[in-house]
Amino acid sequence: MNLLEGHDSTCPHCGETINLTLDLSVPEQSYIEDCPVCCKPMMVSYSAHEGELAEFRLDPTD
Ligand SMILES: [Zn+2]
Repeated sequence: MNLLEGHDSTCPHCGETINLTLDLSVPEQSYIEDCPVCCKPMMVSYSAHEGELAEFRLDPTD
């Protein structure tokens, strides 16, 4: 079963729309990812319930 899902969000640094690939087979996770536009790090955190995105946060990291 493929639970990878593309999710559009807005970079907290540059405000550009970016598309993140989320793995919804994991109930909860957070990790640092660099913005593909401005290359600044941001904290991606989300939770999933039965393969559906339940909560999503994107916060700036310095
Ligand atoms: Zn950015």
